[in-house]
Amino acid sequence: MCAARALTDTYARVTLVERDQYPNGVGDRRGVPQSRMFHTLIERGRREVESLFPGFHARLDQARMPRMSYGFNVALMSPRGWSPPSRSPVVRGLFVTRTLLETTIRDHLRETANVTIIEAAAATRLLAETQEGRKVCRGAEIRRRDTGEVFTIEADLVVDASGASSKSADWFADLGLAAPEEETLDPLLTYGGQWMKLREGARWPTGWWWTHGVFIQRVPPHDLNGAHLMRQEGDLWLLTLVAGAGQEPPMDPDGVAKFLAGLRSPLISEMLPLFEPVSKMTGYRLSKNRWRHYERWADSLDGFIAMGDATCVFNPNQGQGMSVAASEAGILRRCLAQTTSPRELPALFFAKQAKFKANPWRLAISNDLRFASVEGERTAAVGVFNWWRVQLGLSPDRAVQQRLAEVDLLLRPVKDLFDLRIAARMVYSRTVAALRPPSERAPSFGSHPPSLPTIFT
Ligand SMILES: Cc1cc2nc3c(=O)[nH]c(=O)nc-3n(C[C@H](O)[C@H](O)[C@H](O)COP(=O)(O)OP(=O)(O)OC[C@H]3O[C@@H](n4cnc5c(N)ncnc54)[C@H](O)[C@@H]3O)c2cc1C
Repeated sequence: MCAARALTDTYARVTLVERDQYPNGVGDRRGVPQSRMFHTLIERGRREVESLFPGFHARLDQARMPRMSYGFNVALMSPRGWSPPSRSPVVRGLFVTRTLLETTIRDHLRETANVTIIEAAAATRLLAETQEGRKVCRGAEIRRRDTGEVFTIEADLVVDASGASSKSADWFADLGLAAPEEETLDPLLTYGGQWMKLREGARWPTGWWWTHGVFIQRVPPHDLNGAHLMRQEGDLWLLTLVAGAGQEPPMDPDGVAKFLAGLRSPLISEMLPLFEPVSKMTGYRLSKNRWRHYERWADSLDGFIAMGDATCVFNPNQGQGMSVAASEAGILRRCLAQTTSPRELPALFFAKQAKFKANPWRLAISNDLRFASVEGERTAAVGVFNWWRVQLGLSPDRAVQQRLAEVDLLLRPVKDLFDLRIAARMVYSRTVAALRPPSERAPSFGSHPPSLPTIFT
């Protein structure tokens, strides 16, 4: 949808072909099974979507999206301990259901004059011809899902934004083209998701300042399980279990309670009696991190580009996928301002896309390789990068933490972690901290979050 919006500035007619029939209003659909799991649109993505669809954030506010912030109303236990409670929220993105996000963007797109949406119709093949020895994409073949009717759409540019299940490799084979080379890494993660609501008359204990949720992260190399219980719009809460090393998360209530009680903090298991489930637990085995390297594709197809999960799938641990997809729509917009030539555009776009993707890819892969259960090449560069991130993470200096957050939120490139000024602040702040008495020094690793009065009196 972001790609479609980006194209509307340049092309007189944009057609979005969607395999699913969209639900009426906010609802799940088959093509996006991940929508039953927790999604965050991190700050980079929020800004990108807002620039494509001005007023997007305000519409989410109207839909009563909860405003959430770690340390303010969400307790976060990261590998570095509990994040310190804070008096004011720091907005690092939107914690909103995937279905509401999608519906809001879709409503915006429907208001865009030169976009036509064809629902319940799947792209099944690319149309191409050979011109001056080069393959040129001319459109796509579409099959209606209800009637089976097959028709074609001619186009100056075809964008594959069909997600992780993209069939582009098969379509290339039909055209006699090789698929782009792929890089993969399996994080061996399985998710379980269940909708909850507070029981009638449940009393939230005073002192539980985490009124909007708790997030207990996994800790490399051997602590493989994590969970979060997060507030969503409509007074619903989403319980998510994350199990590493390919284990299945439990689906039954006793198993869920045991899983939660076995985490580094039993906090979510202690909160659970306040809630009642409103759905079954749904499991989801994560696909591999996979990068299709279009930027070094040995073949080429003029008039064709691919973006989002169709080119690169990330372990969602760091909440990057939607933001990357939205950022790529921004890249596409800028490329189209430079050229609309079907021959030049793909190479220009794929080069810029790869330069941008290298950052989230590095963050996702390096983090996965910190877990002993994940198989992959642990190069010296990965080792140094992970070691450096840990060193920065241990610094109590605000500017250092801010820089780490900005890189994680894709607001800055990874190279900005290696800034000399940041390195100096990290060394200085850690030296000063080491000279303090131990009671003032360590971040909180207790089983429960630090309470507000202890911190602020
Ligand atoms: C468990 C889980 C949790 C996640 N959490 C987060 C998170 O917190 N934050 C985040 O940013 N990302 C998260 N992600 C990743 C995020 O969901 C994806 O990166 C993002 O949806 C990619 O967008 P996309 O448009 O490329 O693909 P999709 O959102 O998958 O959309 C592809 C669309 O193409 C349609 N389609 C497929 N094939 C065809 C066809 N042949 N013809 C027509 N239509 C077709 C599908 O129906 C679908 O509507 C998570 C992923 C998972 C699996």
